[in-house]
Amino acid sequence: MADGHPGNALPSDPELELRGRLVRSLGTLREMLPGSFVERRRKCGKPNCRCAQGKAEDLHVQFLWSVLQQGKLKTFHIPARLAEQARGRVELHKRLQQAATAIGQINLRRFLQRKQDQERG
Ligand SMILES: [Zn+2]
Repeated sequence: MADGHPGNALPSDPELELRGRLVRSLGTLREMLPGSFVERRRKCGKPNCRCAQGKAEDLHVQFLWSVLQQGKLKTFHIPARLAEQARGRVELHKRLQQAATAIGQINLRRFLQRKQDQERG
């Protein structure tokens, strides 16, 4: 197999092309935030507030971001003006993890293939 020979990189190898695309995509995910982001609607408890009726559109919206920090789960309130940004960045983290998993699977397959080829002699 030509695999592994420096001058023999096959640019048409779809697996390597995919890995290249995944690796390049990592840079675009650099602003990622770990953790999870949730939007919660609730009553504030004031009897005269419009939310007291319990209609969904009258409830107060809370944005919460939970993240492991030094092994402890911490939850932060996120102001509405930062909510979309935080949600988007948490989404970037998921994509980063998916890309890392896919790169790992490609490398695993290639490594095992090489091992098998060497064991055949
Ligand atoms: Zn209220």
